[in-house]
Amino acid sequence: MITNTGTSSEQTDVDRSDPVYRAWLKESVRRVHADANRSADTHLLRFPLPGEWGIDLYLKDESTHPTGSLKHRLARSLFLYGLCNGWIRPGKPVIEASSGSTAVSEAYFAKLIGVPFIAVMPRTTSSEKTRLIEFHGGTCHLVDDPRTVYEVSARLAAETGGHYMDQFTYAERATDWRGNNNIAESVFQQMRMERHPEPAWIVATAGTGGTSATIGRYVHYMQLDTRVCVADPENSCFFDGWVNADADAVCERDSRIEGIGRPRMEPSFVPGAVDRMIKVPDAAGVAAVRALERVMGRRAGGSTGTGLWAAFRIVAGMLREGETGSVVALICDPGDRYLDKYYSDTWLAAQGLDIAPPSAVIDRFLATGEWTG
Ligand SMILES: *Cc1c(COP(=O)(O)O)cnc(C)c1O
Repeated sequence: MITNTGTSSEQTDVDRSDPVYRAWLKESVRRVHADANRSADTHLLRFPLPGEWGIDLYLKDESTHPTGSLKHRLARSLFLYGLCNGWIRPGKPVIEASSGSTAVSEAYFAKLIGVPFIAVMPRTTSSEKTRLIEFHGGTCHLVDDPRTVYEVSARLAAETGGHYMDQFTYAERATDWRGNNNIAESVFQQMRMERHPEPAWIVATAGTGGTSATIGRYVHYMQLDTRVCVADPENSCFFDGWVNADADAVCERDSRIEGIGRPRMEPSFVPGAVDRMIKVPDAAGVAAVRALERVMGRRAGGSTGTGLWAAFRIVAGMLREGETGSVVALICDPGDRYLDKYYSDTWLAAQGLDIAPPSAVIDRFLATGEWTG
């Protein structure tokens, strides 16, 4: 409310405080905190490797969050950031450009605080994710050209008076990278009683880049020796952009590995937080995620396979160099979202992906430690 009347040049005191809005804001922040308070931490699983290698491989299982992916952490951070900045308003929609997982988690938090949610996604997004977004009360706005998701989201926000969350810009800053039980702090806590408690490598994949930024910054902040590797799929510009220090790197085609691989260097991707990048062929990523099911009886999404392939390669390299230590990779989301993709031989054939050669590389590696990929 404006307590001073008169023309603007005469105003010296403008009070826009609004007790009704503030009560709503308080209640919304409480609900987001309460959701976290009801949740347990995600597991750090061991991927079995021969004990005599002296190298331990762990998987941080982010698929066990209430909305099934590592995007639960991001959505919580983005909602708190948007609420505390006064950007999310009662009755106004939250809009997001997403390849799916973020939208699933954000739809959940939007429902939790009672605001509408609209996801702007490429038409190629898996039908299961569309179903999950609608299950959580969200609306899906599908676009043909994945490169237009940003502008379409901004336009929808302007038209509806809503808030464009913009994960690709804000992921790195909405997350509290110094701690607050972020993914990095959680991993290091859970590693404390292992034989190699400080991982030689943590392997992430990049969609927004937020996860690798959080891990890299945390490692630097805590003065640790752990190095951060990002595994990048085909049809993504992150690898070339990072190697050539080219912030304008682009990629024409849409990534086939949902959640990771981007057509542009996203603002949330922080190159200086990353020590190493490994380009992983899509067939190799799918082969790795199938191997995960054979070895551990768990199905995960394609991005998990991309990271796992890179982790195998790193372990093989350490073994060759006679190094011991530990390596941590991530289970990013569950495989049941992709039964019509990474677990479908029909889909693989239609994509021209032959997973037999990389599967043979993995089998040989797991049996002998040798890497022939
Ligand atoms: C977003 C996402 C990633 C990558 O995480 P970022 O923090 O966005 O880089 C990996 N896997 C899946 C399934 C994702 O949805």
